[in-house]
Amino acid sequence: MTKEIAIASGKGGTGKTFIASNLSFFLHDQGMKVVAVDADVEAPDLVLALGGIKKVIESSSFYGSQLPKVDYNKCIKCWRCIEACKFNALLKGENGPIVLHELCEGLGTCAIVCPVKAISFEEVKTGDLIIALSKEDIPVVMGELELGGENSGRLVYELRKRARTMQCDFIDIDSAPGIGCPVISSIVGVDVLIIVIEPTPQSLKGAFRLLEVAKSLDVRTYAILNKYDINPSFAREIEKSIDVDILGRIAYNDSVIEAYTSMVPLLKFKPESEIAWELRKIFKVILEEII
Ligand code: SF4
Ligand code: SF4
Repeated sequence: MTKEIAIASGKGGTGKTFIASNLSFFLHDQGMKVVAVDADVEAPDLVLALGGIKKVIESSSFYGSQLPKVDYNKCIKCWRCIEACKFNALLKGENGPIVLHELCEGLGTCAIVCPVKAISFEEVKTGDLIIALSKEDIPVVMGELELGGENSGRLVYELRKRARTMQCDFIDIDSAPGIGCPVISSIVGVDVLIIVIEPTPQSLKGAFRLLEVAKSLDVRTYAILNKYDINPSFAREIEKSIDVDILGRIAYNDSVIEAYTSMVPLLKFKPESEIAWELRKIFKVILEEII
């Protein structure tokens, strides 16, 4: 049965994609079938951390919102829709109301009040769903929200749904940072959530908030302390204060940046480095004891 692991952090820049990409690489290297999901649909970069795109397997449009469309042949210019719209998203036009898409919330009050049913709704493309094979031969399911595109949570839901149709042992989800809608979509129903924390007050605060969300969703949660040596005393404080098992402590290392800019997972870039050994130790615990 496919197991789902989500890697998340309450704040960006803690090393979430670094952990997620190396976990995918590790599992693939162990002979497991892995599908990686990049749930950070506003800034997807997981495929880059896995070598870049070798080939696109599938690409489809994502329709994440609905906008009103006026049938001017039916409109009797009563302007009830304009009166009802609380977002000032309708303007009087020569033939009837003109919809200002950027202000429209799409909830449909205008259509309800229209006496002649002149307003209908049409789906609007707000992003793309792409499945690509990375150069490390790991399939990556990713989404790309258009500028100003809405409904990132639903796009993440679609990515996970698509990943579940692919035969695999593991789905490794690189969540969006923070605790917003796409993050909740990333972690709901996973087998294990791993929160990546760095020893800064901002990261710890984000981790606490994420932990609360995870508890409310009843998700089994662990943590990894990344770059712990940039502030060892605060790292010790985190260990004392956070109410989850910490799977490992990873030291800051310039090789992580070098691996990232070379678009090679660190486990391949510097397989004998101390940090690679620490990562493998953590991933073995996940594979053999947790999941
Ligand atoms: S859907 Fe709502 S926000 Fe958009 S035009 Fe109609 S009433 Fe206004
Ligand atoms: S409520 Fe209907 S009929 Fe009246 S102005 Fe709006 S679209 Fe036209």
